[in-house]
Amino acid sequence: MTDYFEVHARDGAARIGELRLSEAVTTPAVVDDVLADAGSLWATEREFPDGSDDVLTVLPHRSLPAGSADEVRESFAVDYPDVDFPSAAVVTADTADDYGADAYVLSDAQGFVGHARAFRDNVIEAKENLPADTALMLSGVATPRNVSLLVYAGVDLVDETLARARGLEGFYLTSDGEYFLEDLDEFPCACEACRKPASEFTRADAADHNANALRAELARVRRRVRDGRLRDYVEGQARHDQWLTALFRRFDQQYSFMEERVPVIRDSELTAASEESIDRVEIQRFADRVTKRYRNRFDNPLVLLPCSAKKPYSESQSHRQFQEAVQYRAHMVSMTSPIGVVPQELELTYPAQHYDSVVTGDWSEDEKSFVAEVLRRYLERNDYPRIIAHLPSGAYTEIVERVADDLDLDVEFTVSEHPTTTESIGNLMRTLDGEPKFTREEREHNVVKALADYQLGPDAGDALFADVELEMTSRYPKLQVWNDAGVQLATMVPQYGVLSFTLEGAKVWRDSDAPTKTVEIDGFVPHGSVLAPGVVDADEDIRPGDEVVVEGPKAFAIGRAEMGGRELVESTRGIGVEIRHVEER
Ligand SMILES: [Zn+2]
Repeated sequence: MTDYFEVHARDGAARIGELRLSEAVTTPAVVDDVLADAGSLWATEREFPDGSDDVLTVLPHRSLPAGSADEVRESFAVDYPDVDFPSAAVVTADTADDYGADAYVLSDAQGFVGHARAFRDNVIEAKENLPADTALMLSGVATPRNVSLLVYAGVDLVDETLARARGLEGFYLTSDGEYFLEDLDEFPCACEACRKPASEFTRADAADHNANALRAELARVRRRVRDGRLRDYVEGQARHDQWLTALFRRFDQQYSFMEERVPVIRDSELTAASEESIDRVEIQRFADRVTKRYRNRFDNPLVLLPCSAKKPYSESQSHRQFQEAVQYRAHMVSMTSPIGVVPQELELTYPAQHYDSVVTGDWSEDEKSFVAEVLRRYLERNDYPRIIAHLPSGAYTEIVERVADDLDLDVEFTVSEHPTTTESIGNLMRTLDGEPKFTREEREHNVVKALADYQLGPDAGDALFADVELEMTSRYPKLQVWNDAGVQLATMVPQYGVLSFTLEGAKVWRDSDAPTKTVEIDGFVPHGSVLAPGVVDADEDIRPGDEVVVEGPKAFAIGRAEMGGRELVESTRGIGVEIRHVEER
């Protein structure tokens, strides 16, 4: 039971939390001012602390050096009694467990910070062993340069110890590096400590500046987490130190750890500006769902198109010209780096209309391989009577040729010079001569089913909507889905490109063969939101932002998950699900 820590917002493994002391502390934060260490049991038998709501009390502990043998650890293990004041327990990754504390301090952090693989292994193991709604603290390791990565990995609390110690040793720390104090004739900072001439600046001043810089960097990180944009920042920040670059990549290799924590929808733009952008969860998840869940339902030829800088693509000038030429006679799929391929039905779906990348036309080999792999998997799963590539020469054409060779497919190319020249548009138009048009109705039905596939799982669109006669009452992209009895089932949410269900739609979903995401609650009727303590059980594959069915002895409801499945089950505080509709049983 966590009484004194609550998570309010999440951005991957990073969180905005609140340490609920008499004066609340917003985390991630430095906690030197509010930490009371009851001390090590090595030195002496300690009086058990009385604790206080004013501070986070570190319970008496026995830290062992990194790499101590298991027998040694066990024989020196400390019992942590349940206390009724804010407390932190000192553990290692493998002794980490639920001791009833609000926060946990990893005792051997100084041994693994600086080593990418050891850091990743220790932090991930600790996070998996500790209750999801407790704070994780690393002591004696934070600097202005590394703290954004520490938070990205899931650390909530740090201290000023190392930053101050480095100052007293004569080092001046910034978020991008460190300098010998003697080498600076002016300071790249305007904090209070730095407002004196270099000649009078002491090591004690450097310690103060370093602590200020750490706090300023944490404020920036908190802003980024609130905006859902920490990843964009750390892609750049990781470059300032080799171990941080390595650490960042190690976490990308740990796909399931991050995937469990990254929301499925977001308002914010996603900046794909570095080589590592391809590896981020949002990009990989989209590619994975497009090639494993989505299925093309049109009988028409495929037209492969280049992406446009403007999103959604259909609102760009180039895509308007393509639509004019195609005239509902082909299924339009855009190719793009770093997303892969985007079928027209999913052009609004996060992150397809939310990413921003540098459009230079020059794709790296990694980008080409990634897009080619996604296209190959896409074409293996979806059959078309004809494949038309309306693409500029260079990377796009190269990728299509590579995949067509691989899969032994015939592709017709329609671009001469550039996709939007009169000649190219004419070619595209003529090559579709005689192909049947699909109707607006067919297109809208296919959009709704594609969204269901993407959100819920393979064939979900058919499982949900096969037996109901769909009526659309609004025009794309604000589709409203009604059944033939005049009952609304779902609405398409244009800003995320997902379906949100009504109660009736939730029942259709629950009774269908499509995989359901269910949150089981206690005997109460939720209004507004379900708080975590009311959750009895939840499907493990629920992700933050997922549409979920909420069921309990007294209520049936539909809403949106605010946390992942594991966190829903483990958490004792915080909003678990925002309820949209509810009925009493
Ligand atoms: Zn300063």
